[in-house]
Amino acid sequence: MLLEVRDLHVEFRTREGIAKAVNGVTYSVDEGETLAVLGESGSGKSVTAQAVMGILDTPPGRITGGRILFQGRDLLTLKEDERRKVRGARMAMVFQDALSALNPVLTVGDQLAEMFTVHRGASRKDARAKAVELMDRVRIPAARERAGQYPHQFSGGMRQRIMIAMAMALEPALIIADEPTTALDVTVQAQVMELLAELRRELRMGLVLITHDLGVVADVADRIAVMYAGRIVETAPVHDLYRAPAHPYTQGLLDSIPRLDRKGRELYAISGLPPSLTAIPTGCPFHPRCPRARDVCRTDDPPLYEVSADRRSACHFWRETLRKEPLDAPR
Ligand code: SF4
Ligand code: MG
Repeated sequence: MLLEVRDLHVEFRTREGIAKAVNGVTYSVDEGETLAVLGESGSGKSVTAQAVMGILDTPPGRITGGRILFQGRDLLTLKEDERRKVRGARMAMVFQDALSALNPVLTVGDQLAEMFTVHRGASRKDARAKAVELMDRVRIPAARERAGQYPHQFSGGMRQRIMIAMAMALEPALIIADEPTTALDVTVQAQVMELLAELRRELRMGLVLITHDLGVVADVADRIAVMYAGRIVETAPVHDLYRAPAHPYTQGLLDSIPRLDRKGRELYAISGLPPSLTAIPTGCPFHPRCPRARDVCRTDDPPLYEVSADRRSACHFWRETLRKEPLDAPR
């Protein structure tokens, strides 16, 4: 196993009290595998990734429990210098906003070259050649000339390609991409996603793809973990989840995106809003919004039930969801 997050807990101190941003998240990613982590904003998907990357630097944030195993070693107990070495060379992150992640006063060629001079001790000339090679690889046209340009001279899609090139430069075993295409328009989104998928295949990297958009992951991910209120509510191979979700939240998300195979059907909208992380509801945290909720849901927090060997659902009534009983059925 490449990455295993086990029972991770992260809290933030806020003016309203302790915000439980991550409440016992467990997921894993194999070598060469793509895991999509899906959830609304505030579901804890980015915070989990930041804990993995060691960039939970917003001072009030704190990991209060759990383990983060990378290639079998627990990053939370490794010595600081060891940990930095692992994170610097073996994992990399792609952010939503390339413009603020790139250095505005360095040409993109110099920024890419720096990866090789700093981390690999390459000569300036070799590093420069490698930078152009990388730009070619992420299909930036006229790479040699464009290496001399600054980040603001590139389009959003091209900048995201440069971010991907930076992330790949040291051939990490794992890339975490947090909403990598959210800021881009739809056609460019598809191209960038395709590029990520292709590089992941070629380099056999593990990829954690964080998104709020179920639409972008279907063709790219192997498995999905759906998050809600700082927890995983469902995990499944991507096609199983699309075919038959086993959690009402996932079912609601699926029913709220337009799908060709369901033309003419009215789109569903999940009622209400995600809970405040300082006041997560008792029992199942989804119960105030859940059309299937019953009394037990208000008091008993559902564990991650085993739906099948490779599927889990945190719903007491996953069976009826799986059977596709309609959400508005009378009970
Ligand atoms: Fe809905 Fe109850 Fe299942 Fe939670 S446990 S998702 S409230 S049916
Ligand atoms: Mg986020």
